[in-house]
Parts: sequence; C-alpha cells; structure tokens
Amino acid sequence: MSEYISNKAKNISKSQTLAITAAAKKMKAEGISVVSFTAGEPDCPTPDYIVNAAKNALDCGMTKYTPSSGTVELRKAIAKKLKDDNNLDYDYTQIIVSNGAKHSLFNAMYAIINEGDEVIIPSPYWLTYPELVKICGGKSIFIEAGEEQDYKVTAKMVEKAITPKTKAFILNSPTNPTGAVYTKDEVYEIAKVLEKHNIICISDEIYEKLYYNEKPVSIATYSNKMKDLTIVVNGMSKTYAMTGWRIGYLAANKEIADVIDGVQSHMTSNANSIAQEGARVALSKSTDVEELVKIYDRRRKILTEGINSIDGLYAKESLGAFYLFVNISKVLGKSIDGEVITDSISFCNKLLQHGVVVIPGAPFGADDHIRLSYAVSDEDIVEGVKRIGVFISKLV
Ligand code: PLP
Repeated sequence: MSEYISNKAKNISKSQTLAITAAAKKMKAEGISVVSFTAGEPDCPTPDYIVNAAKNALDCGMTKYTPSSGTVELRKAIAKKLKDDNNLDYDYTQIIVSNGAKHSLFNAMYAIINEGDEVIIPSPYWLTYPELVKICGGKSIFIEAGEEQDYKVTAKMVEKAITPKTKAFILNSPTNPTGAVYTKDEVYEIAKVLEKHNIICISDEIYEKLYYNEKPVSIATYSNKMKDLTIVVNGMSKTYAMTGWRIGYLAANKEIADVIDGVQSHMTSNANSIAQEGARVALSKSTDVEELVKIYDRRRKILTEGINSIDGLYAKESLGAFYLFVNISKVLGKSIDGEVITDSISFCNKLLQHGVVVIPGAPFGADDHIRLSYAVSDEDIVEGVKRIGVFISKLV
C-alpha cells in the first residue's frame, strides 16, 4: 500500500520513544519490576474542584458546539490569566482554544509557514517541533544549545542563523527536555534580534509555572512590536494535571488569530465543551500549583544528587519543568553482557533489562543524553537511581 501514502505523511517520524515505553509496559505486565522515569505528565490526579466543574458542566447541559475558537468565558479567563501572570494585554478575540498546546503549536505553524520557510529551533528540542515544521512544509534550522551553555542559545547565535528564508524562531522556556530556563535578559536579547529582522517567535510557555529559581518571562513582554510578532502558546496539561482533557491555547496578533480560527473551524471545530468549562474554573484558582512545585523541587534535588553521585553520569541542575537531562557520553563505547553501548537508544534498551526505563536523547537531538522525568514518586526515584548505579557499575 505504500504507493498510496502521501510523501508528506511518509516523512513524518513516528515517536522513537514509543518502542521503549511499550517494552517497559510489557515487562510490567509480565510481573517484572520496572521503575519508569518516562512520565511527561504530573503523577497526581486533576484537582477535585476542576473535576467537579466538568461534572457540573455536564449537568448543566454544556454539551453542544461552542464557538470554534472556544467559549467567550474561557477566552476571557485566559486573557485575565495572561494579564495577571504574564503582564500581557490581549483581548479575548486574540485567543484561540485548541485540543491541547500541541494542537495550538500546529495551528501557529500552519498559519505562518510557507513551503520552504525556515524555522530556527534551539537543540536539544522537544521532538514534536521539527515534525510540525515538516507537516507545514517548512525547514527546521537547528542551533546547538549545548551543556556548556546551560542548554540555551544566545541572541548572537539566533542572529547568525537568520537567512532571508527565516520565518520563525521557537522558544521553549522552561525547556523540555533539558529543564533550562532563560533569564529575562537572555530572552530580551533574543527579542531585540527577532524584532530587528521581523521574525515571528512561537513561544511555548507550557511549563511556565514549573520553575525552581528565576521566574520565566514571556518574550512578548519585551515591547509592543515583539508582542505582535509573538504567538504565545500555553495549556492546562502540565500546571493543572489535565493532560487527558486536551485544552491548550494561543494568543496572537488579531489577524493571525483570525486565520487560525478559520483553519481550526474546518479541522476540528471547538475543543471539548466540558473540558473547556473545567479549564475556565481551573484558571480561576492558581494556588494549588505552589504545592505541586514544592513536591517537584524536592524530587528534582533527590534525583539530581543521586544521578551525579554515579561515576560516569552527569546532569546540570534542572531549573524548570520536571525533566533532568543526563549526559551519558562518558559511558558510550562501554559494554555490558558482551554488547557495546553505542548511543542513547542502546543505553536505554540495556538499562531497561536492569529494571529502569528512561527516554533516549536521540529524538531530542542529543544522542549522548537521556531524559529522566521527576514527576515520579520519591520512593521510585530512590529505587531507580540505585538500579541505574548498579547498571553503570557493571559497564566495562
Ligand atoms: N510543549 C511542550 C514543550 C511539551 O513538552 C508538551 C507536552 O509534553 C506540549 C507542548 C503539549 O502539551 P499538551 O498538548 O498536552 O497541551
């Protein structure tokens, strides 16, 4: 059947992390003990007040189509959130609610990318970005944000990567997979460059509330011009433990927002009406996040200390999100059970046989790293680190 598959669809990579998580699941089903550091979502349930809001929405009959861009009430709640939390003034008509931030990112790219347009992406990157660029006919231009520069690119590097074909730059701070957080100065230096060259910034702020040191700042706050050039993307998944509800949103210049609304109206119509009501109520209360951040902060410290106590592994401090990016380059080339560990995928496959599942760095653009989530219980972190230590000690 392959002759029937479009070239466009053929070019999209399947998740390289799927195979390892499936293997781990199978082992667990067979009764084998496996500690998983793969979670890309909070390990707690959605708070009761949000669940109750959705139940209430059902009882009240909020079960019909809403405007394609989302209910006015939710978009107004998002506009208030953007003002209160980010000091950004948006009219609710500039906000589009979608089926998760992932969908918002797709909408943003679809609205601005022409065939052959270049999109600059700091690497390591969240693996979905280049695939979305591809789907939209664009070309990803990666700039290296290595460990020695705390996994962040500088304004100079961004400027150097700009060509006449550059349409957009993707900023994700706090960053998945590295946990890096750009300082206000760093963000504003990048804004200066983007403004000078009239480049759009897709600012993925999904982890904005999960930080352990300096509060992240939205690039859209730099100036009115930068606000106009920025598409702010955010969502309910990570902050409110609402990954399954599929509510994300973006805020943009009105002309861009209107185009996105048109596209979405034909693609999916509105996001789920009941989930929208849950999101509206969630946004009315933000205090619960502080508790969550305290828990992640504790786990982040336990995990980082544990990993860095293992000879051969090294992790920079994670300052945001719930990921620790671990450098495994010192153990690449070593062997276990007569097999050489050549890259992050073979490392992860071998580690799985020792009862721990982690995500390889390859799909994030860093084949000498692995990603560990600390949205995992304290007990699992302690046990998992112990097992990783035993595994590393067996390498020759
Ligand atoms: N952006 C980043 C950096 C992410 O890590 C994720 C999810 O893992 C998303 C966006 C998408 O979130 P959702 O579609 O659940 O809102």
